[in-house]
Amino acid sequence: MDDSFHCPTCGAPLRIKNRFVKAVTCEFCHNVSLYDGVRLDPTGRTASLAKLQSPLYLDATGRLGDRPFRVTGRLVYEYDGGMWQEWFLDLGEGRVWLQEDEGRFTALNEGDRASAPPFEGIRPGDEITVGGHRVTVGEVGEATIVSAEGQLGHQILPGETIRYVDGTAGEDEVSIEYGERETEVFVGRPVPREAITIDPDPFA
Ligand SMILES: [Zn+2]
Repeated sequence: MDDSFHCPTCGAPLRIKNRFVKAVTCEFCHNVSLYDGVRLDPTGRTASLAKLQSPLYLDATGRLGDRPFRVTGRLVYEYDGGMWQEWFLDLGEGRVWLQEDEGRFTALNEGDRASAPPFEGIRPGDEITVGGHRVTVGEVGEATIVSAEGQLGHQILPGETIRYVDGTAGEDEVSIEYGERETEVFVGRPVPREAITIDPDPFA
């Protein structure tokens, strides 16, 4: 794959880091472009930098359980109850979203997005079926993406408001995000903090 591009906004060189990337933040001008596997399409949106504390950071490497990872991107969400963030991790042969909410981590894998029921009408306490999972809905809400960094595996952009449904299916946590362009389904499990090893920062 030819992974060398220039930012369509400022012309700076830009390299796509893996084949799962769908949105890219320019590290020079912070403009966000969508990536369809062939070309970059500027969105006119810029990514403000996050001010949330975390042990993770862009380009950090480490291990999730026994799987080596590199952080390629981050999204910060703001909702009524505060903020949470999602880290996009490149696992070499795969990828995972690591959600971080007040020190609690959940590893999320992409589920079958076509199986997402329409958002309208879903209420906390409902039982819904998503990709073969029987999900008990815990929370329904709205959040705004207040920050994006790096390269991301889905087309959710800074400034965008998403609607979400969170629930549980046995030990699995199921999350549906309804964005302006895409609906995404995630299925995941909580990850104890001790299972995340972060290599020392060479620039610290
Ligand atoms: Zn740029």
